[in-house]
Amino acid sequence: MSLWLAEYSYGGLRVLGTSLAGEESFVVVPELNLAFDVGRAPREVVGVDHVLLTHGHMDHAAGIAYYFAQRMFVDNDPGHLYLPKGLVEPVRRLLRVWADIDGHEPTANIHAAVPGEDIILRRDLIARPFKVNHPCRRHDRSVVEGLGYTAIEVRRKLKDEYRDRTGPQLVELKKQGVEITRRVELPLVAYCGDTAPGAFLELDCVRNAKILLLECTFVEPDHMDRARAGYHMHLNQLCDLLPRLNNERILLTHLSRRSLLPEARDLLRRELGSEAEERVTFLMDARYRRRRGPRRGQQREDQPRPE
Ligand SMILES: [Zn+2]
Ligand SMILES: [Zn+2]
Repeated sequence: MSLWLAEYSYGGLRVLGTSLAGEESFVVVPELNLAFDVGRAPREVVGVDHVLLTHGHMDHAAGIAYYFAQRMFVDNDPGHLYLPKGLVEPVRRLLRVWADIDGHEPTANIHAAVPGEDIILRRDLIARPFKVNHPCRRHDRSVVEGLGYTAIEVRRKLKDEYRDRTGPQLVELKKQGVEITRRVELPLVAYCGDTAPGAFLELDCVRNAKILLLECTFVEPDHMDRARAGYHMHLNQLCDLLPRLNNERILLTHLSRRSLLPEARDLLRRELGSEAEERVTFLMDARYRRRRGPRRGQQREDQPRPE
């Protein structure tokens, strides 16, 4: 279970999550019935029907089997997991192994997510996967590219040319088979998982999402090399990118355990000023943080494993 659960509300959406590099990352949007990444599958994740997994690093993916097992345990439908294509077979294998361990292979709906191919979550909601810049190298040296996802509300809007028509006229047009509405997409929440800067930041569904969750693993000036080596984002890079982003709110995730949150917040404030801080903030910032467990002591040194 997560030690901390951040809770951030904006524009009628709640963003619940925990995100610490190498330890655990997940974000749940209950109003959209979805989670981005599974983390260690805390109950907030188990409670939603759709999990959009960005990549296979343990801090994002550890709870996959537990998610499906818990869904069965509380008599929910199995739930749906969407993940990079290269991970589908290994995850199916992982679930089968659980039959050898505890006698039950959890029932699961597993779907390959492909960049640009929309996932229909409900009639008025889709998720659009996009490729980020966080390649994951497996032990056989093959690479699985990381994904991000945007949850997009889909509406039908009356076409401008029919705006002056009366109700009965519109009904008549519809009867004649005329398409009087057009599709409108409202990008609500974009989640980029782990990533270095990349072309995905030019996508409309990322730049214009109401809420953008973007990683900022490293903040200290001498940590730029670490950011590059691990395909992660550094605060300096983030500041360069901000002018091109239209998001109303940007929540920073995946802070390294090498950095303490108050110091990271000070560095962010120094770069952006206190005014910009309302728009750009760390997800785990204390103002939105609820105590869930024992207080963390001094930050531990990172283990040398991908995160
Ligand atoms: Zn990570
Ligand atoms: Zn990672």
